[in-house]
Amino acid sequence: MNAEIIAVGSELLLGQIANTNAQFISKHLADLGVNVYYHTVVGDNAARLKEAIKIAESRAQLLIFSGGLGPTKDDLTKETIANHLGKELVFDKAALQSIEDYFIKTKRTMTENNKKQALVLDGCEVLPNDHGMAPGMFLKKDNHFYMLLPGPPKEIQPMFVKYGFPAVQEQMTSKDVIISRVLRFFGIGESLLETKIEDLIDAQTNPTIAPLAGDGEVTLRITCKHDSVEEADKLIAKTEEEIFSRVGEFFYGYDDTTLMNELAHVLLKKNLTLAAAESLTGGLFQQEVTSIPGAGNIFQGGVVCYTNEVKNQILHVKEATIQEHGVVSEQCAKELAENVASLLNADIGISFTGVAGPDELEGNPVGTVFIGIAKKGEPTKVEALVLSGTRAGNRIRSVKYGQYFLLK
Ligand code: ATP
Ligand code: MG
Repeated sequence: MNAEIIAVGSELLLGQIANTNAQFISKHLADLGVNVYYHTVVGDNAARLKEAIKIAESRAQLLIFSGGLGPTKDDLTKETIANHLGKELVFDKAALQSIEDYFIKTKRTMTENNKKQALVLDGCEVLPNDHGMAPGMFLKKDNHFYMLLPGPPKEIQPMFVKYGFPAVQEQMTSKDVIISRVLRFFGIGESLLETKIEDLIDAQTNPTIAPLAGDGEVTLRITCKHDSVEEADKLIAKTEEEIFSRVGEFFYGYDDTTLMNELAHVLLKKNLTLAAAESLTGGLFQQEVTSIPGAGNIFQGGVVCYTNEVKNQILHVKEATIQEHGVVSEQCAKELAENVASLLNADIGISFTGVAGPDELEGNPVGTVFIGIAKKGEPTKVEALVLSGTRAGNRIRSVKYGQYFLLK
């Protein structure tokens, strides 16, 4: 079966909100083995919605609509579909009752247009709305299935999972499942990674491999379609093994994880604590660490050491280091990392010093970065980077590199 998702709402076209409903539904349909060929977005306009329906009918079997089921004038999805299919709208008793109950419970007066939300397409399967008033609908006519779902994410998501998904599943003839796994890499560019696995990408049929880059990271999505979950898992594992043999050293985690999550996990397991000295990154690293629930177990604290004075007086970077090497230097990064660890009694100290831009500093070009890592009982390491982003980009990228170096 193939599907098209039609999101209705002028606010989507105006750029006020992103079409996360289509994203959500697509992800779930993929699990069912339904191919989503198109996402359409159309404004709150009956004529244009009708056009969109006709086009969708010409190229998809299952049409899923999001939005426009509410009580106001601009909510016209079901009216337009009813008109297009030559169907009546009839009151659904259960939906009407739950709307009336809601108004009694909240001691508010019900208006005629609230009642409108209980109108459903004649002959449809009603999909109850456990988190709002407008019910969803599922209907088969001729060779097409139509599913109407409400716009608010907190309504559409549970409705689709609980009622929409099983309704589609029941209509499926093929029982293929689609399973995907995302591999996350850091420290390697997208083009280099792709070159290293080019032959695998070229030869792919099932599973498929899709690269995606963003924020200094590269991800590979491996997707497999099969009638057995077990077999799909095996095929994915085999592809994964082949990929790891080429670029495994840059791999850091699966699916929705982040460098920070992985780092927190490792530190917790090894029972190690961190302290941070941040010049270049001004606290961004500490903000990331402390966003992890339970950060207190792995993080002692840190210092935002922006001026030379703070580096010298609070973190005891030697006067001579600042004079001879400058603060954007390997030596300064080393002292910052070692001193913050000992001052704050942490197992590992990390430091960030460098030039975020737009202007150069101490004769160092924009993008020069030194990250110091001082681990108890080991010689301190300083990693030197030359980044090429904007000020904001260089700062974020530095934090990620710091997390990556700590993980290695
Ligand atoms: P309501 O009863 O709240 O009016 P509705 O079914 O009529 O719901 P809309 O009026 O189209 O839905 O949208 C209501 C809200 O839901 C929007 O303001 C927006 O916040 C959210 N929304 C609508 N469509 C989408 C979408 N495709 N992706 C994400 N959010 C959406
Ligand atoms: Mg609405």
